[in-house]
Amino acid sequence: MAQVVLRPSLRPTSGYPPHLLPGGDPRIEEEWREAAAAFDRGGAGVGRLDEKGRFRFASDGFATLLGAPLSEILGSDWLRLVVPEARGALLASRRSMILKGKAEVALRALRQDGTAFDADLLLVRARETEPRFSGHFLFLREAARRRQKTAVRKRPARDRLTNLPDREGFLDRVRAELDRQTPFAVLLVNLDRFRTVHLGLGHAAGDALLRAVARRLETCGRLGDPLAHLGGDEFALLLEGVRSFEPAAAFAERIQRELRPPVLLDGQRIYPNACIGIALGPGAAARPDDLLREAASALRGAKARGSGQIGRFDEGLRASVAAQARLETDLGKALERREFRLEYQPVVSLATGAIVGCEALIRWSHPERGLVPPSDFIPIAEETGAIDEIGAWTLREACGQARAWERDGLPRLSVAVNLSPVQIRCGGLAALVASTLAESGLPADQLRLELTEGAATDDSEETVGALRDLERMGVAVAIDDFGTGYSSLARLRRLPIAGLKIDRSFVRGSADDPQDAAIVRALLRLARQLALEVVAEGVETEEQLRFLAARRCDAIQGYFFSPPLPPEAFARLLREGRRLPARPARARRSPAA
Ligand code: C2E
Ligand code: MG
Ligand code: MG
Repeated sequence: MAQVVLRPSLRPTSGYPPHLLPGGDPRIEEEWREAAAAFDRGGAGVGRLDEKGRFRFASDGFATLLGAPLSEILGSDWLRLVVPEARGALLASRRSMILKGKAEVALRALRQDGTAFDADLLLVRARETEPRFSGHFLFLREAARRRQKTAVRKRPARDRLTNLPDREGFLDRVRAELDRQTPFAVLLVNLDRFRTVHLGLGHAAGDALLRAVARRLETCGRLGDPLAHLGGDEFALLLEGVRSFEPAAAFAERIQRELRPPVLLDGQRIYPNACIGIALGPGAAARPDDLLREAASALRGAKARGSGQIGRFDEGLRASVAAQARLETDLGKALERREFRLEYQPVVSLATGAIVGCEALIRWSHPERGLVPPSDFIPIAEETGAIDEIGAWTLREACGQARAWERDGLPRLSVAVNLSPVQIRCGGLAALVASTLAESGLPADQLRLELTEGAATDDSEETVGALRDLERMGVAVAIDDFGTGYSSLARLRRLPIAGLKIDRSFVRGSADDPQDAAIVRALLRLARQLALEVVAEGVETEEQLRFLAARRCDAIQGYFFSPPLPPEAFARLLREGRRLPARPARARRSPAA
C-alpha cells in the first residue's frame, strides 16, 4: 500500500477526504466519518495505523490533542504519541491488541511542543472481513478528569518481593520532582557480589537478602523519602532538597554503614555492601529516565573501582549518557532500516560428530558505529520495549531460514532462538511462536527457545504458563548460560525444560581449572538424572572437547568447530558435511575424574 501523504490543498477542513477513509463500502465510510466527527466533538481523537504502526489517518481532534498539524501526523510513527518511557507499554498494548482484538492503556502522551499529558488509549484490531482494514484503529482522549477520580484508589505498584514501590512508581516520583523544579538527588544502590550469594546459597537466600536490604534501606531513609526496588539487586532512593553532591555522598556512606552488619542466611553470615551512584536533579535532565540513566552511569563508574564505592554523575559522564540515549533512538529505527541480520552457529553432536542444529544470533550493523554487539543493545531494547518487535523479527527470520535450508536439500536441523525475559513476561509468547511456526511451515520440534537462567527462575504464573504452552506445542526450551544465574536445579525441575546450555565461563576452565571442572562434572551428572539435554557453549580447544566428550555431554557449540556464520557460509558447512574429528567424540573412556 502506498503511503498517504496529504498535500496542503487536500488537508481536510471539514469532514475527511474519502481516500483517507478505510474500506471501499460507502456505508462503512459514512459510519467512519460520523464516528470520527463524534470523537472529535467529545475532545477525543481517532486514528488508523498500518501494520508498521504508521498513521494512515488521523481525525482533526487527534491533531488538536497532539498540537500537531495533520500533515505531520500522517505517515509518522505512532511511537511519537507517547513519552519515551511509555513506548514499551505502547508496544506491549499493541501485542495484546493483536492477540485479543483490543487493548486499553493509560499513558503519558506527548504533544508536539514536548509537553506531556495523561491519556487513555484504546487500540482495536481492524476487521478481518474488510481486506483494506489491515492495520488497526486507535482512540485517544485526555484522561485528566478520570484520573482525578481514580487517584484515590490508585496505589503505586509494588514489587512483590520487597513490598517497595517498583521502577514505574519511582519514575513517577522523579517526574513530580522534576515538575516542581526543586533540587533533589537520586541514589542508585547496587549490592556487591549478590550473584555469589545467589549461586552459593540459592534463590531463597538471595530473596531473603534482598528483603533484609530493603528493610535496612527503609530505616536509614528520612521519613517520606521515596525508596524503590528497581529489580534484581538494585534499589533507588530520592532525597528531596539536596542541592549538592556532598550531602548526598554523606547519606550514601550512611547507607553503606547501615547495610554492613551481617545477615544470617542458611546459617552463614553475609556482610552486605553496596556501590552507590548519585545524580542531582533537576539539572539538565529533562525526563525521569534521564536522571536514572545519569545515576546508573555514576554507579557503573563506582563499580569499576571496586566494591563499596560511591560515584557521582558529572559532566564527564554526560557524553556517555548522551551516547546511550542516541543508541536508544537509533535502536527504535533499526528494524525498519533493516540493520539487523542473523548469524548461525553450529551445534554439534558429541555422539556422531555431525551438525545437529544451530543457534541464531542477532547482529546490528549501526550505520556509524559499525557492529554493535547484542550484549550492548539487547538490554536497551528490553528497557525501551523495542525487544518485542526485534524478538518477533528474529523468530520469524530464524524459522524461515531453517525451512529455506531444508527446501534447498540440506539436512533437517533444529534452530535455537534466544528469548528475552521481557518477551516471556509480557504474555502472548506462545501465540507468537505458534503463528510464526505456522507462517514459516517449520515443525515445532525443530525450534528451540533459549531462556537465560534469570528468566526461567522467575516462576510467576505468566512464565510457567508460557513454558507449559510451549511444551504442549512441542517447542523445547533450554536454559541458556547455565551456572551464571541464581537457580538451583531442584527449582528448575518444576519447570517444563528440555535442556541446559553450560555457560562458556565454566567450559573455558574445564580442562585445567579443577573448580570449573568440578562444576561442569556436577552439572552434567545432575542434568543426566533429570533427563535434560546438555549443550556446552564456548568450546574453543580440543582439550575442552575431550573433557566434555568423556563426561557424556550431548553437544557442543564454540569456536573450536565454528564461529557464528552468515546463512550462506553456514549452508556451505552443511553441504560439505563438516564433522568433528572422530577421536574426541569416541573418547568416552578417558579416566573418570
Ligand atoms: P548466548 O545465547 O549465550 O550466545 C552465545 C554467545 O557466545 C554468542 O555471543 C557467541 O558468538 C559466543 N560464542 C560462541 N562460541 C564461542 C567461543 O567459542 N568462544 C567465545 N568466547 N564466545 C563464543 P553473541 O553473539 O555476542 O551474543 C551474546 C548474547 O546476546 C547471547 O548469548 C544472547 O544472550 C544474546 N543474544 C544474541 N542474539 C539474541 C537474540 O536474537 N535475542 C535475544 N533476546 N538475545 C540475543
Ligand atoms: Mg543462547
Ligand atoms: Mg549462552
